[in-house]
Amino acid sequence: MSETLDRLLAESRDRLKAAGLDGAAVDARHLISGLLGLSLAGLMARGGEPVSPADAARIRAAVERRVAREPVYRILGEREFHGLTFTLSKETLEPRPDTETLVDCLIPHVRRIAASKGSCRLIDLGTGTGAICLALLAAVLDARGLGTDISEDALATARENAKRNGLAERFQSHRSDWFEAVEGRFDIIVSNPPYIRSNVVAELEPEVRYYDPAAALDGGNDGLDAYRAIALHAGRHLEPDGVIGLEIGFDQKQAVAALFETQGFCLLESSKDFGGNDRVLIFGQDVERSNDR
Ligand code: GLN
Repeated sequence: MSETLDRLLAESRDRLKAAGLDGAAVDARHLISGLLGLSLAGLMARGGEPVSPADAARIRAAVERRVAREPVYRILGEREFHGLTFTLSKETLEPRPDTETLVDCLIPHVRRIAASKGSCRLIDLGTGTGAICLALLAAVLDARGLGTDISEDALATARENAKRNGLAERFQSHRSDWFEAVEGRFDIIVSNPPYIRSNVVAELEPEVRYYDPAAALDGGNDGLDAYRAIALHAGRHLEPDGVIGLEIGFDQKQAVAALFETQGFCLLESSKDFGGNDRVLIFGQDVERSNDR
């Protein structure tokens, strides 16, 4: 006799709850619906239907991975971000809902530039899954993007994501350590770089600490290494009317603003994430300063 979906859902929820996971019921629903290719509504509607032994085994194996604190979307291998679906891999950070704020803040700038110049060229430094760049390309048809990363695994994943979202013709990838191997100027420079202080990385939740790549999290002793590297060379790579959009840590607004102001940029906007923390900074060329140069 096969078991029903409802029965397996309850078993999975109880197993996750017993393991001390806070969102046990939600996780069980997302895991099982994702594994079986069902919507959450579909999962509920089909609760009385039998599950094949093979599917039941897949579900139990996935639940054990979650018990070991692997995040749900890593187990499923993909995650939604800004309405697109992204494949995840070992060396890519799982795209976070908070990062959608960065995309939302940049869309008006990408549109403005595309409308005035006929196209908009953007670069996403440390692109990972390609989520930020590809979400911007999906939102503005006249935009083209270059995703850079130090990880070949990430670049391959970003290319796959461009393809699966129908954006491959407008997306290129290039291996670079920040601007090191980058040439030319861009209308938009964007990055969600590693910004966690090295001594804090070990204190992150197991889901992040063990399953997100350290290279995408660790921003050095003060968490600002990547911003320093980007700020130093951004002037050589930004078009005169262009903007720089950055995700930052919740307590880094002043420090990151100071780093970019020192290099001749001015803070145009800042935005908070869904939790009310400072999360996004947008910089432009400081007109007075650039007239002096
Ligand atoms: N926001 C991520 C986290 O705290 C970190 C991302 C990053 O360092 N860019 O999990």
